[in-house]
Amino acid sequence: MEVEVNALGGYEEVGRNMTAVRVNGDVVIIDMGIRLDRIAIHEDAEIEKMHPIDLIKMEAIPNDAALSQSRSSVKAIICTHGHLDHIGAVPKLAHRYEAPIMSTPFTAELIAQQIRVEKKFGVENPLYTLEAGQIYQITPDIAVEFVRATHSIPDPIIAVLHTPVGALVYANDFKLDRTPVIGKPPDFTRMKSLGKEGVLALIVESTRVREEGKTPSERIAKDLVRDVLLGTEENDKGVLVTTFSSHIARVKTIFEAAEEMDRRPLILGRSMERYLGTAERMGYVELPNDIGIYGNKRSVDKMLRRVIEEGKEKYLPIITGHQGENESTLTRIAGEQTPYQITPGDKIVFSAEVIPTPINAANRYALETKLKMRGARLYTNVHVSGHAAREDHWELIKILKPSHIFPTHGDLTMTSSYVELAEEAGYSLRDNIHLLRNGQNISVGP
Ligand SMILES: [Zn+2]
Repeated sequence: MEVEVNALGGYEEVGRNMTAVRVNGDVVIIDMGIRLDRIAIHEDAEIEKMHPIDLIKMEAIPNDAALSQSRSSVKAIICTHGHLDHIGAVPKLAHRYEAPIMSTPFTAELIAQQIRVEKKFGVENPLYTLEAGQIYQITPDIAVEFVRATHSIPDPIIAVLHTPVGALVYANDFKLDRTPVIGKPPDFTRMKSLGKEGVLALIVESTRVREEGKTPSERIAKDLVRDVLLGTEENDKGVLVTTFSSHIARVKTIFEAAEEMDRRPLILGRSMERYLGTAERMGYVELPNDIGIYGNKRSVDKMLRRVIEEGKEKYLPIITGHQGENESTLTRIAGEQTPYQITPGDKIVFSAEVIPTPINAANRYALETKLKMRGARLYTNVHVSGHAAREDHWELIKILKPSHIFPTHGDLTMTSSYVELAEEAGYSLRDNIHLLRNGQNISVGP
């Protein structure tokens, strides 16, 4: 008996992750993501109303044609965490399969929100929630186990499929963070025992495998943010901070710093409101009593007017727009479309890296130029990544000792760089490292 790994999305790009694993005729899908930069180049695209055929043509969602003959064989859809490049295609593709969607509670809530805004399809797949540490028997031959991981969003897991021919480990995305700001460190004890029991295959992200060394802990990001916000004698200026809305740990660090700066934290922007509200409701984060949260444009602008009236030095707005996205709060402030006037000396803190696509780079360039023209002082890349770097990947290989490795979540420069790393660890291309392109599959056995 063998296990067949089908690469459906994410094997040629950063984004639209989707893998199907076939065991004895039954299929389990892992992740169902979207690729946002392909949406961004079609400015008038209203994804909620679009058909999957058009989105597949745009290369915005995975092409699941390889499963068209065996849709009824799909027994489960597993989503590893709540980033859109892992759940964003659920509203467009999940209804094709009569299978439950399995994820941790935070991810499940974000999936439910995605499904609610979908206009084209009624997605009725049941949502099953599993906690890290739990195992669920999907078919007599396949069980899924959730292993606690760390990343840049609450409640991420490494998924393990137990099959009659061995375990298949899916680590996409992850970092090895021993001191996360929210949640617990990865479950190294379980990972080590999986390595001892024997791992048939590892499907693993390669987004940052070209970065040398290890990715610093989120605790280091906390120090960086605090150093910028608290480490200054110039306390009377306006300060705006922007970061990833779903990065709840980072937002927590920022609003805690606001309390120490004696400024009132404000959460401004639609996606900020949605993610932070969800995290608070579900108990992942506790908010200070004086925090203000405003999502829609009108209430954001009303609050910004109040900031100007009462004094910029009394507030710390945490806002959307670190990639220079259209309609985000920071982009609107830079374009003088809000009551908040940037004056010389105001500080803008980017607690995020520029996502390396030409569109983001262009938007960010325009944004930074406008801000500088108004006299703003910029602090960029006050950030550490949520993705494993080269030596973290080395460590994971050494812990799990997989018989086969499938690098994913990257373009060819990233996946081939992972191949080089695996060769340093004693693996060899085609023998036991498999470089799949979208639409290809390979079967492996013990
Ligand atoms: Zn992710």
